[in-house]
Amino acid sequence: MSDKAALLARRERLLGRNMSLFYQDPAHIVRGEGVWLWDADGRRYLDCYNNVPHVGHCHPRVVEAIARQASTLNTHTRYLHEGILDYVERLTGTFDHPLNAAILTCTGSEANDIALRMAQAVTGKTGVIATNHTYHGNTAAVSQLSTRMPPVGGYGGHVRHVPAPDSYRPLGGEPGAAFASAFAAEVEKAIASLEDSPHGFSALIIDPFFANEGFPELPAGFLDQAVDAVRKAGGLVIADEVQPGFGRTGTHMWGHQRAGIIPEIVTLGKPMANGHPVGGVVANIDTLNAFRKVFRYFNTFGGNPVSCAAAMAVLDIIEGENLIENARRVGEYTRTAFKALAEKHSIIGDVRGSGLFMGTEFVLDRATKKPAPELATRIINAMRERGVLMGKIGVHECSTKIRPPMPFSKENADLMLSIFDDVLSSL
Ligand code: PMP
Repeated sequence: MSDKAALLARRERLLGRNMSLFYQDPAHIVRGEGVWLWDADGRRYLDCYNNVPHVGHCHPRVVEAIARQASTLNTHTRYLHEGILDYVERLTGTFDHPLNAAILTCTGSEANDIALRMAQAVTGKTGVIATNHTYHGNTAAVSQLSTRMPPVGGYGGHVRHVPAPDSYRPLGGEPGAAFASAFAAEVEKAIASLEDSPHGFSALIIDPFFANEGFPELPAGFLDQAVDAVRKAGGLVIADEVQPGFGRTGTHMWGHQRAGIIPEIVTLGKPMANGHPVGGVVANIDTLNAFRKVFRYFNTFGGNPVSCAAAMAVLDIIEGENLIENARRVGEYTRTAFKALAEKHSIIGDVRGSGLFMGTEFVLDRATKKPAPELATRIINAMRERGVLMGKIGVHECSTKIRPPMPFSKENADLMLSIFDDVLSSL
């Protein structure tokens, strides 16, 4: 039997306190394959949470690509190598004009850090706008944007937060075009405030799917007015695709394509190499050159041949296994089933998402939409007890976060849904 008490004590002694850990009864996971995880006692879990193993845990083609390249060569980008060129060519081929060049990093945080500096290099200004329920990473610069872990010493004067869009409780109380205008008005206010400060306005950074904000269901063209306001003020739009990228939303390869906008800078991470640490920044070559002129940038590990081989294998598999279409099909099927469950369980106030990124928002009362974060925690833990791993998210921390590896099937969804039904019935 796994001795969890001993592992927890060892963790605290060796890694320090406050390391985040999922579930009241933490899972001791030792093996993964496809959409499945196994714990140290041999128990199998359906993984409905992990987006990093995008094409499935330990996908043999990724493992093989890593092993083959690791046994041939691994160095840095100060030597010539085709690996990074072949990958960036293939990657940028999935973007719209004029996004045609990239810098490779090891994390999403680094990518966002670079994106902020690119915007500074282009505009000569430093002011940034983000939403008030976001997370863009853990460097000193990007943690200035993240409201879930406020920086020690408070936010710098160069940051403005706008209300995170919440489709279940839209800003101004009205959905549709009025909601989009209300959001744009907040962005305009923040731009004016920054332009009035010594920092000026350089960029709006958003996840176009607003994943960390609880993936609101936004009307078509929701971001258009806000993006127009940014452009009018001479600022740049940075799209953080760390979560919605690589086809997860089932309709497009990139979240910004789904949202109908073309940002100046796009940042990538998590699923990019199926768990091998790879991130990136995609921009027009002129933007990239403007950055490199001001900030001479080198990343020891970013773009190494092994990372590029792993990342290339991910693109091959997404295409070869038709995973975007799978995300669309299975995602739609699952949301329809969740909506049917909502007729039975009044605690489900809202069902939303796109592709294989979705969730249900729990409320104590559908009329008042009073959030039920404690119940959400109980539900997530009960699901884990019954062998299904999912997470919790949202402005009110009362929505499930379901974001499984992309080969997730209808049969996998049926299993999750039947256990979910049981758990809600037992509350
Ligand atoms: N951006 C978003 C939207 C994220 O969700 C995260 C991580 N949760 C990051 C950036 C940071 O990525 P990393 O942990 O690879 O630095």
